[in-house]
Amino acid sequence: MKKNVIIIIAGVVVVAIVAVGVILMTTRGREEAVAGPQRLNMGAGWVTGVYYPLAGSMSRVAHAHIDGLSLTVESSGASVVNSNLIGSGDLDLAIVQNDVAYYAYNGLLREDFQRNPVSNMRGLFTLYPEPVQLVARADSGIRTPSDLAGKRVAVGPLGSGAEVNALQVLEAAGLSEGDLAAAERLEAGEAADYLRDGRVDAAFFTVGIGASVIADLAVAQRITVVSIDGRYADRLQEMEDFYARATIPADTYTQVGEAQTIAVVSMVVAREDIPEDVIYRFVAGIFGNLGVIHSAHQAGRMVTLETALDGMPIPLHPGAERFFREQGMR
Ligand code: GLU
Repeated sequence: MKKNVIIIIAGVVVVAIVAVGVILMTTRGREEAVAGPQRLNMGAGWVTGVYYPLAGSMSRVAHAHIDGLSLTVESSGASVVNSNLIGSGDLDLAIVQNDVAYYAYNGLLREDFQRNPVSNMRGLFTLYPEPVQLVARADSGIRTPSDLAGKRVAVGPLGSGAEVNALQVLEAAGLSEGDLAAAERLEAGEAADYLRDGRVDAAFFTVGIGASVIADLAVAQRITVVSIDGRYADRLQEMEDFYARATIPADTYTQVGEAQTIAVVSMVVAREDIPEDVIYRFVAGIFGNLGVIHSAHQAGRMVTLETALDGMPIPLHPGAERFFREQGMR
């Protein structure tokens, strides 16, 4: 008799525990669906570049000013790998060059893009011009892109837009990788170290003006920024609509004179399946707090509402579309 009572009580307790557990789980689940924070990740670029500090400032804006949205930032090789990770669904947002976004979305230029066009990529807004900065040791004798023949050259990190541009500059000079003594694919900071130590003669960086990767190198080693102008720039502009002329002012980097070159534009992209209202609140939050972006890096000061659709090469995300329509820009 006593034993039966104990079994019944134990049974009731187990049922009660299970019931409480189920109730807790379902309410938690419902809370997350209704009011839980939206956690997004953003593919940035080189730690010593501009994407990374700028993405960090966007994460700070989200944290402080956009309810229920948090943004984690991931460093990477940059434009090409970021595009492919948008395609595979591993990134929610990313910063990429506008030329690479165009190639990725339309399945052009590279084998990976041709095989798997990144058709789920949508544009949010463009950021600032990124000049192709061909940096050489001052003692290398490199004065024009043609002088790269027979030299050891860092042609941009693996998965970067810089590599895409470097190969086009070589082509415009009538060169291929085979004409170089070596073509290295090094992480950006590593390329600067190699250049400082004389292990390469020149390195390509497509990056915002004043990026620390070049600024720090100029302090450690006499360098020049080689102009990509005249017939080289003409040819590149014939090859690609995305190239605009750009000037890198004297003394941007310690003891480095003015250089003329060509530039693309950086931009923020998202996967098309990120909900419209999330992207709308993100874009509105960024343009409502531009001061945070401007203070992250000197190139960030070029981010403005007025220029936010200049150079946009792919369709806008509906959330961005709504924001710019409200601003009278669409
Ligand atoms: N524009 C570079 C690239 O995609 C990245 C520059 C940066 O990280 O600031 O290759």
